[in-house]
Amino acid sequence: MSETEGTAGGDEEVPVVYLHGVCRRYKQGESELVILNGAKLALWAGQSVALVAPSGAGKSTLLHIAGLLEHPDEGEVYLMGTATSALSDLQRTMLRRTDVGFVYQSHRLLPEFSALENVMMPQLVRGLSRSDASRRAEEILSYLGLKDRITHRPAELSGGEQQRVAIARAVANAPRILFADEPTGNLDPHTAEHVFGALMQLVRATRVAMLIATHNMDLAARMDRRVTLRDGQVLELD
Ligand code: ADP
Repeated sequence: MSETEGTAGGDEEVPVVYLHGVCRRYKQGESELVILNGAKLALWAGQSVALVAPSGAGKSTLLHIAGLLEHPDEGEVYLMGTATSALSDLQRTMLRRTDVGFVYQSHRLLPEFSALENVMMPQLVRGLSRSDASRRAEEILSYLGLKDRITHRPAELSGGEQQRVAIARAVANAPRILFADEPTGNLDPHTAEHVFGALMQLVRATRVAMLIATHNMDLAARMDRRVTLRDGQVLELD
């Protein structure tokens, strides 16, 4: 892996995520749409990486494959040095639960539950007790400036607050990698700044690796690295 990009801290030997030769094609009638064609990417602990590419370039596809939500047609996804293609569905699910967090453009919170309960949910699924899950959920929400909002349901929160609860939920199980798909795409510039700040704060505090698909060049400029997708391959920008 000598050709991979440098580490943020210099102390990790293995990237948190390493995509190697990843291909993904979709059938479109008689023809085939080639979305990823030998894509290669290494993400290191504590590093924030912006994925900047036009709509339809394959950003979501790449995030879903790297986050084990989809299988590539060819190639391998390594998480913490472990090849994932040979793992069973259950093993992939367990890895995803403990090591991977996702934030989407729309918050996808459960409307009938409070902010606290939404952040407890992934921890309960993982097997934590209600009291431990509740304590940690409160801690994370407070850390993201939402201490006064923990009993609110999503409909009682602003767009930026909803998105910060979604971020808290994504990191509830202390993942090693956080994927965010246009996380500020629905927000006004001021709120986007606040939500972006929360993401960057988490990268610094927890050394989670973060890959954000975004169209926002201002935010991308403030991240550690910028990559794009061209002809199905990942290219470094700058
Ligand atoms: P982006 O996130 O960059 O907008 P996507 O990864 O969502 O791009 O999609 C890349 C391309 O693949 C698009 O042209 C999209 O229409 C196509 N695509 C995505 N998912 C499927 C699917 N399940 N079946 C067929 N085509 C798909």
